[in-house]
Amino acid sequence: MTNENTAEPTGFAKLGITGNLLKATHAAGFDTPKPVQMQAIPAHLAGRDVLAVAQTGSGKTAAFSLPILTKIVGLGTKRSPKSARALILAPTRELAVQIEETIRALSKGLHVSTALVLGGVSRFSQVKKMAPGVDVLIATPGRLTDLVREGEINLSETRWLVLDEADRMLDMGFIHDVRRLAKATHKDRQTALFSATMPAEIETLARTIMKDPVHIEVAPQGTTAAEIKQSVVLARVKQKRHVLSAMLADEAMRQVIVFARTKHGADRVTRDLERDGFDAAVIHGNKSQNARQKALNGFRDGSVRILVATDIAARGIDVPGISHVVNYELPDEAESYVHRIGRTGRNGADGIAITLCDPGENAKLRQVERIIRMKLPIAADHLGQPDPKPEPRTAERRTHERGPKEHSEGARNGHRNGGNRPRGEEKPRERTAKKPFAGKPAGDRPGNGKPFRGKRRSFGGRKPAQAA
Ligand code: AMP
Repeated sequence: MTNENTAEPTGFAKLGITGNLLKATHAAGFDTPKPVQMQAIPAHLAGRDVLAVAQTGSGKTAAFSLPILTKIVGLGTKRSPKSARALILAPTRELAVQIEETIRALSKGLHVSTALVLGGVSRFSQVKKMAPGVDVLIATPGRLTDLVREGEINLSETRWLVLDEADRMLDMGFIHDVRRLAKATHKDRQTALFSATMPAEIETLARTIMKDPVHIEVAPQGTTAAEIKQSVVLARVKQKRHVLSAMLADEAMRQVIVFARTKHGADRVTRDLERDGFDAAVIHGNKSQNARQKALNGFRDGSVRILVATDIAARGIDVPGISHVVNYELPDEAESYVHRIGRTGRNGADGIAITLCDPGENAKLRQVERIIRMKLPIAADHLGQPDPKPEPRTAERRTHERGPKEHSEGARNGHRNGGNRPRGEEKPRERTAKKPFAGKPAGDRPGNGKPFRGKRRSFGGRKPAQAA
């Protein structure tokens, strides 16, 4: 905390974190600030908006949480009903849960109240938790939009807003919800936006909702953590199952996350692994929140060695000991590759990422290489070998061989990716949807300084979307 010779503050103290928050930060095991924290914390404490390009695993959660907690801690416990002093928006439930866990650890003993508002679980307890008002609300955009529209949550006193993994919120079709929710917060709010990549739409969003932000880029766009050893294994689609099972026979693959492109594909890989004698859990958007959490907990506590996941479900998975990431299929969006492999090599640990590539996926591989600015070495080439003997054809295998007519998870109708929404995920809003906060007298609109307390209205004759 201080340098003994000079009594100069060091570490987080040097960045402006003090008192009990500093103690809690150390107790949480954070002693030396990471680059994103070194840049974002002083800027945020100085009252500036922050626009950060930060990789997954870079330490961004503490980078936005610590300055907000610093400001909230002094405010006392008097809060308006249904209000939130700070709002953190995240694309997935898993990431939101993880952010809340980090904030609780960082504010231990400081009497900071938090609430989680997520789709896929009962809204009753969320409404109850929000009733007296909270310090920090962590939410996914769909459910929060519903509860604001129904008058259960009032954001007009929210003075700190964070958009985490903003590029992912864009990919999931939440951008309009995010824009409206930002508008519903206090007009003098301070905003921080964190994104692993900075597509043009995010830059536009930042320009419209932020004031003269400080730009932070801790690693060039698309750079992968240096500690991750990456390679490609060339294998035809029909060979992939056997190649994967042969790889997994090596016990050096201690804890493995296998990425599939679609929910259907993830289920199929899991079934094939089980047939080949491996225990594997699966996590994707069609699974209930309980099933997802159970799979994740098993993976976290080490009782599950292999987790098969789709891109969306894997967002926010922060399991320190993942030794290997296997891309069973290349992602549709090259940027997802960076997120996927960022699940390993976390926090300075070594990690290995192996990508199985069918000749039909070569174009996607080239795109990935362009984004990460390196050519991936080929660790093995199975293309010259014959395909394994097919199993007896069951109805299920026939469907598999025809190939799933499924878009990658997260691809949406009406969105730049087109495609289907995973059931159980938050429902993204259509571009044509009426504004949820429209139809109120100007003075009652959020952002005009008055609480958002209009009478409950079904929105355009439509019942508010029930997320899952
Ligand atoms: P994040 O990018 O926020 O998901 O953080 C990635 C990982 O780094 C998490 O496991 C954090 O607990 C950990 N972490 C973040 N900041 C620090 C720090 N200053 N010192 C040690 N670990 C950290």
